[in-house]
Amino acid sequence: MNTHEIDRAAGLIADADALIIAAGAGMSVDSGLPDFRGSQGVWTTLGSPGATNDGLHELLQGSCFTANSRMAMEFYGRALDVCRRTTPHQGYGLLLGWARKKAHGAFVYTSNVDGQFQAAGFTEAHILECHGSIHHFQCARPCSPHIWPASEISKSMRTTHSADWPRCARCGGPARPNVLLFSDPAWLVSRTNAQRLRLEVWRSAPENPVVIEIGAGLALPSVRMFSESLRIPLIRINTHDVHAAIATAVTLQGTALAVLQRIDRELSRRLAPANP
Ligand SMILES: [Zn+2]
Repeated sequence: MNTHEIDRAAGLIADADALIIAAGAGMSVDSGLPDFRGSQGVWTTLGSPGATNDGLHELLQGSCFTANSRMAMEFYGRALDVCRRTTPHQGYGLLLGWARKKAHGAFVYTSNVDGQFQAAGFTEAHILECHGSIHHFQCARPCSPHIWPASEISKSMRTTHSADWPRCARCGGPARPNVLLFSDPAWLVSRTNAQRLRLEVWRSAPENPVVIEIGAGLALPSVRMFSESLRIPLIRINTHDVHAAIATAVTLQGTALAVLQRIDRELSRRLAPANP
């Protein structure tokens, strides 16, 4: 992370009329949250005591909700609890502050299912969650396209009593989080598609947007593919593999919070009155 690149990033952000924030698991890590879909190492923090890698692998497959619903709901119940209790790190607030100074604000595109952008104060209508959200539920079969907020579920799902697990109001079968797992044809895409449509409508207004991509790895490249496909100035922040196919991209190696703080200091310095 050299000063020249920080300077370039701050320049792009200062000149932009809108921010597109493309966030992967690395953005959540600084809040202490695991990557709920990708990195096995972090997933283990949510596993039951004595859980094996095979067991965790099974919990990442879409079939887990019907094949082993009790284990799956305990696991995702713990995950929901953790997400509800986690406070977004200061980097979210910095991004929000930058966005509020822009004529068209910001739109978030994230593979994170943890709802941290909403918790940090970003507008729900300006967020696209490409892998869904743990704060929303659907029928595990599914018997209908209905997706409902997990806020309707007041009980902790960590209970071992199956009668307390959320169920589909239409067929009475087990419900599941509206989170896209591997080999998961039952995942309902309608909420994400509605978000995608809102992004397309919003995109037509800004004339000079910049995309700030944060913590998006190569293992699940959906966020990287999105940000590179926009063909607008790109700032890539990640702890590793920061190289970009776009030659003009600004690449900053480091954790999300540390890099965002460096950029913020540079933006503040630019706004400070010059010494007489
Ligand atoms: Zn159902």
